[in-house]
Amino acid sequence: MLGDDADLLLCGVPVADNAVNYVSLPPEKYSPVEHACWSKGQAAPYIHLARTFGLVEEEKGKIKATSMLCNMFRSLLALSPEDVLPAVYLCTNKIAPDHENMELNIGGTTVVAALEEACGTKKSKVRELYNSLGDLGDVAQLCRQTQSLLAPPVALTLRGVYAALRRISLQAGSGSAIRKKSLIVKLMCSCREKEMKFLVRTLVRNLRIGAMMRTVLPALAQAVVFNSTPYEGLVENLKECLQRLSAEVVEAYNILPSLDVLVPSLMEKGIEFSSNTLSMAPGIPIKPMLAKITNGAPQVLKLFQNKAFTCEYKYDGQRAQIHKLADGSVRVFSRNGDETTSRFPDLVNIITESCGPRGTTFILDAEVVAIDRQNGSKLMSFQELSSRERGSKDSIIALDKIKVEICVFVFDIMFANGEQLLNLPLRQRRKYLKDLFGDVKVGYFEYATEMTVECNDACTDNEATLARMNSFLDDALHSSCEGIMVKSLDVDAGYTPSKRSDAWLKVKRDYVEGLNDSLDLVPIGAWYGNGRKAGWYSPFLMACYNPDTEEFQSVCRVMSGFSDSFYVEMRDFFDGDRIFQKKPPYYRTAEVPDMWLSPEVVWEIRGADFTVSPVHHAAIGLVHPSRGISVRFPRFIQCLSDRKPEECSTSADIADMFHSQTRKMNVNLEK
Ligand code: ATP
Repeated sequence: MLGDDADLLLCGVPVADNAVNYVSLPPEKYSPVEHACWSKGQAAPYIHLARTFGLVEEEKGKIKATSMLCNMFRSLLALSPEDVLPAVYLCTNKIAPDHENMELNIGGTTVVAALEEACGTKKSKVRELYNSLGDLGDVAQLCRQTQSLLAPPVALTLRGVYAALRRISLQAGSGSAIRKKSLIVKLMCSCREKEMKFLVRTLVRNLRIGAMMRTVLPALAQAVVFNSTPYEGLVENLKECLQRLSAEVVEAYNILPSLDVLVPSLMEKGIEFSSNTLSMAPGIPIKPMLAKITNGAPQVLKLFQNKAFTCEYKYDGQRAQIHKLADGSVRVFSRNGDETTSRFPDLVNIITESCGPRGTTFILDAEVVAIDRQNGSKLMSFQELSSRERGSKDSIIALDKIKVEICVFVFDIMFANGEQLLNLPLRQRRKYLKDLFGDVKVGYFEYATEMTVECNDACTDNEATLARMNSFLDDALHSSCEGIMVKSLDVDAGYTPSKRSDAWLKVKRDYVEGLNDSLDLVPIGAWYGNGRKAGWYSPFLMACYNPDTEEFQSVCRVMSGFSDSFYVEMRDFFDGDRIFQKKPPYYRTAEVPDMWLSPEVVWEIRGADFTVSPVHHAAIGLVHPSRGISVRFPRFIQCLSDRKPEECSTSADIADMFHSQTRKMNVNLEK
């Protein structure tokens, strides 16, 4: 890891203002050395990145955007390879692997105060501009441009900006706000061209250039291919080589999501890199396997025709990826890869006792569920579990303070005693798991309740199989579960990290009630309430997120399910700083609410069914070229306080749910 050396912040690299940016050239015409704006041996200037971001932001085509990032990386690889890792972090708006829980923790207020100091723009003016532009980066850029400079600023280096961000994130305790601000001011004072815009967007963690890990890693892989010495020899099968290496790098990241390990390994191995080069490592969470939504047992049977499969209870708790490291410590990670060990000291004890000496290292997939031991070990809802104290990075909850008890239901194992088990079929993984852990301890450590349907049963007697599945689903619902998971027992069906796989299907209770699944949506707009709701906001305009375009796309208006006190709370929450006067460019909808809300919170919404809509633009282009998907009769269920806005339901999720509904209802797309 790079040192946080403040000297790296500034350098005297001469970079011509308004220099032509060559990264938009086709890769075969781009010369990584000649077209760069600095020379070998120097630290790469941040402007190299900012200029590329400026072009990528304007570019709607994914292939072209990837090729610009690829060219940007090629110059780094050729001239200053030590800048490649910081550049990947800056492109993906991260400063460390997710599991290190290293956050910038900079609020808009700190950025606004820094802007005031660096550019002399009054806070009230910044707020006014923000309300009209909806993007702090654009505001900062405007403030910077209108400021007359006495002397040309000293150039920022790419690694210097990255090091400064890490340094900012480490500030804690008294006086930390002031120290953070002064580090930001120092960076701001050195910004040239569009650097200010992207620096501020990075600070508020909203880069908005559409460069996700899925774009940035293939771009880097392609840069490695184009820069590799025997490039001429590759020309014939260049396309194949580009595709292979891009896929390998993405695959490797799913298994080992640490850029600190992945990027140096890719740079060292070059075109020889493969996902097998890296092995999973206890302590680094892998991206969890996900399930496809179905609308009931008949659809499952259709999808798993002539195949053996297994049904498991779908517990209503929190996903936990449990790691035992070689040093004997046990660590827990959430579905998003954040470390949550400090929240679950009791889980750590349960696991340590259950595995005995047999498991030296392992990675398990499990659901942690709240349980009422005084009441026959009844399972409790996810809400009960989330009411449990949070703990933090450095403070573990004391065992005697725990009010909500838990039971862990383990359903998979991906790694054990140094061996990667991802490619083994589920039957073998389960056997491995049970051999390692042995007996259950009811109410503390259990395996997910399961029911297997062998291939013969599924083929010969559909009716009987359906009846068995429905009765298993009933049992699951009566045991306070959300529904059932149905998993393929095919010999080819391994554990596929990060994928919504056909090998895992889910059937949820909500299906019986209407929608296959509830939606996690973000309020992006609101109207002034009438009648009883005068003085509050109602309805709210709700949106899903499209990570490819980084847009929030509207799904529906919601006006039922809220309590009066919630209306008051939300009015106070949004009033002031969280209302935009103009529609931000990254909101996609034909609705025109009275006000646009800043994307801050995630709400669980349940509705009746999906329809194609000319007004709402969720999943536009995925189901219909110019229409989106909307949900009918939506109602508010609860606030999801542990989700960030970008972690709400995606456009692809909504398209999937729509398709799973149309399979049953034959919806006419032409209307
Ligand atoms: P959801 O909101 O339905 O939990 P999700 O997007 O978190 O969805 P999915 O893969 O769609 O994840 O659904 C599986 C989820 O169900 C897992 O993330 C896990 O938390 C939970 N779960 C409960 N029991 C099981 C089980 N037996 N096998 C797999 N996952 C289970």
